[in-house]
Amino acid sequence: MYFPSYRPRRLRRNENIRRMVRETHLRVDDLIYPMFSAFGENIKKEIVSMPGIYQQSIEHIVAEAKEVYELGIPAVILFGIPEEKDAVGSDAYCANGIIQNTIRAIKKEVPKLTVITDVCMCEYTDHGHCGIIKDNDVDNDSTLELLAKEALSHAQAGADIVAPSDMMDGRIAALRDILDENGFEHIPVMSYAVKYASAYYGPFRDAAESTPAFGDRRTYQMDPANRMEALREANQDVAEAADFLMVKPALAYLDVLRELKDNFDLPLVAYNVSGEYSMVKAAAEKDWIDGDRVMMETLLGMKRAGADLIITYHAKEAAKLLNG
Ligand SMILES: [Zn+2]
Repeated sequence: MYFPSYRPRRLRRNENIRRMVRETHLRVDDLIYPMFSAFGENIKKEIVSMPGIYQQSIEHIVAEAKEVYELGIPAVILFGIPEEKDAVGSDAYCANGIIQNTIRAIKKEVPKLTVITDVCMCEYTDHGHCGIIKDNDVDNDSTLELLAKEALSHAQAGADIVAPSDMMDGRIAALRDILDENGFEHIPVMSYAVKYASAYYGPFRDAAESTPAFGDRRTYQMDPANRMEALREANQDVAEAADFLMVKPALAYLDVLRELKDNFDLPLVAYNVSGEYSMVKAAAEKDWIDGDRVMMETLLGMKRAGADLIITYHAKEAAKLLNG
């Protein structure tokens, strides 16, 4: 009977050997922590479907930003919940909008923490869509002007990186142009290059209060069935001078992460979205899974699939485990 002389189990015999041949590593450096900044004072409201994640007023955001920095996590990404929403999302590009004030407060108290801002309209529009509505749909080109103004106002408030998540055509170039024209040529654009119209965003919409009042986002976010389209979207953003590419969501799209990693040389970001987080939390709460182990395996899987960085609500918990 034939038996191979190569035995893979030889390299799994003990933890030291396993450490020596381990191919993928999750590091605290890889993590980006999302935060929801709410208008008002003394607000710290846990999001029901996302245990441990809060809508918070600025003083609480700053306190948590300090904690994040002390854990060694290099960056946060900010989402805003304004006092008032309107049809054109005015708070999004107001010099004293919720996000602009939050950026300044974090930068004052925790200057070395990298502040990334989500650039989109859906948190600020009363209809909950990612841009200006014309004929019952989001109008691409008029939305670009507002997104550009929003990104510029974030840079002026001190943001280190701007991250457009709207999925309008041409937004990377629009942001790059306005930033360069105003002396912010050093500010990178992290593109949500490949963003699918996903049911995994459910809990986030509670958190950001951004559920569309009518219709859905399928005329601008991508069809979950499409892989080639992801390459076209990424190609387009590279041509428009994006500095990072992102795939969102991550867990059901690990093949897309690998595809982008193999085809592009920009840093690649995975967004481990709210629904992915909620599923782990809910199953762990029922004692159906070991929450910590599933969390670490999921994050490692995203790295193995090709992610260089992971935006994740697990960032603080993962950093604590990694820091030992
Ligand atoms: Zn949006």
